[in-house]
Amino acid sequence: MRGFCSLEGKTALVTGASRGIGRAIAEELAAAGASVVVGYRSGEQEAEEVATAIGGRAVQADVSDPTSALALVEAAGDIDILVNNAGLTRDGLLARMSDDDWHTVMETNLSSVFYTCRAVARPMMKARAGAIVNISSIVGVHGNGGQTNYAASKAGIIGFTKSLARELGSRNVRANVVAPGYITTQLTDVLPEEATEAMRQQTPLGRLGAPEDVAGAVRFLVSDQASFVTGEVLLVDGGLGM
Ligand code: NDP
Repeated sequence: MRGFCSLEGKTALVTGASRGIGRAIAEELAAAGASVVVGYRSGEQEAEEVATAIGGRAVQADVSDPTSALALVEAAGDIDILVNNAGLTRDGLLARMSDDDWHTVMETNLSSVFYTCRAVARPMMKARAGAIVNISSIVGVHGNGGQTNYAASKAGIIGFTKSLARELGSRNVRANVVAPGYITTQLTDVLPEEATEAMRQQTPLGRLGAPEDVAGAVRFLVSDQASFVTGEVLLVDGGLGM
């Protein structure tokens, strides 16, 4: 259904859209009428499949690299919507965390957001239109043992996005955060069953999230139905973090 939260005529770039939450976001935005650029790093076949299915275009880039991230934005062309979804975890207790695990997570999850947002800021301000959604995490709001690097990167996204919303608001460019709770994807597949079950029991809605749950929230935030919403952090977590 394209009426409510229609994105007809808009072009969107979604990073990390070869699978998981990013894929669901790309599919949802396309279903809303947007023309979607499917960003991916290594999952070429998966990304091409997504792009073909939604009539979009797949573009390879490592968003943790400033040159590659800029090339991705340039290849995407004039975009109305940017969704920074690419991310990863390198979990471990702080006392044992390597420099590499710290920097990889910060560069992939947070610096990437800086690189792509910087690249779209000027054209969006000039167009006096644009919607950015950055994907954080409930862990960026509440913290989580074993994830100091991940939590710092995801909390950083929140401060970054609120500042960006203040900078770009007068030019009608909006920037919001979606902070998912526990969503079933490859990222969470590695967690032990007991941890998953404990999470489900603590979630008021009594289930784990699906990528589509996050995609619907993103669709709303980038649509004209959210035209007075900026600098917001929307938890999509089944009530886990309230
Ligand atoms: P997945 O591991 O399933 O997918 C991650 C995606 O990010 C892949 O498409 C991957 O591409 C891409 N990616 C990773 N590193 C890079 C990079 N350097 N450059 C470009 N693309 C990259 O994860 P999810 O779908 O679960 O997570 C998506 C986002 O949601 C992440 O930011 C994650 O932190 C966040 N999130 C997830 C939650 C969950 O419970 N699943 C909860 C809260 C937040 P490729 O494989 O091609 O490298």
